[in-house]
Amino acid sequence: MKLNFPQLSQGDGSDITVLTGIINAGKSTLTTALPEELKRPIVGTGDILREAVAAGTSMGLQAKSYMDNGQLVPDEVIMGILSEALSQHIQNGETSFILDGVPRTIAQAEQMENLGIPVNRVIHITVPVEVAQNRASNRRVCPHCKRTYSLIGEHRPLEDGVCDNCHAELIVRKDDADPQVVATRIKTYMEQTTPLFNHYRTKGVPVITVDNSGTTALTEFIEALNTK
Ligand code: ADP
Repeated sequence: MKLNFPQLSQGDGSDITVLTGIINAGKSTLTTALPEELKRPIVGTGDILREAVAAGTSMGLQAKSYMDNGQLVPDEVIMGILSEALSQHIQNGETSFILDGVPRTIAQAEQMENLGIPVNRVIHITVPVEVAQNRASNRRVCPHCKRTYSLIGEHRPLEDGVCDNCHAELIVRKDDADPQVVATRIKTYMEQTTPLFNHYRTKGVPVITVDNSGTTALTEFIEALNTK
């Protein structure tokens, strides 16, 4: 795949946050809860892939079986998505982003470095494994606006099964429905994504951990976003 990425450089005001965490740590809940003035474009590879699967594009067809089984989609596909999404934002004059769920492997981080995508900080949202497992079976998502709800805790929809925002019927994500797939996603995260923390630390990039196992840790998340 040919990558078409306009270069960003330190000093042009670009500010890139890598947001990572075990499945169901609450990454999208935190970004949705950000006050308007702190919001910035979010490039979420999982959302982009689910849209491609729903639209039946060739990329979606390529990614579907990996996603359904809880495995990582090949790096080549991910780098193409990332490059295209960032290019579009940059063409619109935006230079600050949150990358939600990418990179997920050292190879992806290295390819980002080769493409000249600077990372200012990594925010690691953490919850215990049992919480991640339990949240999976209780997660509901809006297929339209992508807002995420939980049947347990503080993020229930106002009306059962209906999105507060756009009133679409909430669904269970296919990869949340099967406990075996949930287990595979957790194992994949532990094995392939957690080595990124040391990778970035070694390069002098701040890695900030936010514990999101209790009530939504929005204040801590905002502090982390402001880390230089
Ligand atoms: P979660 O973090 O809950 O697994 P996401 O919505 O971020 O959910 O991702 C869903 C699926 O999309 C992943 O299980 C994986 O198959 C694929 N995916 C998303 N981002 C990446 C990535 N950076 N590298 C490889 N696969 C990815």
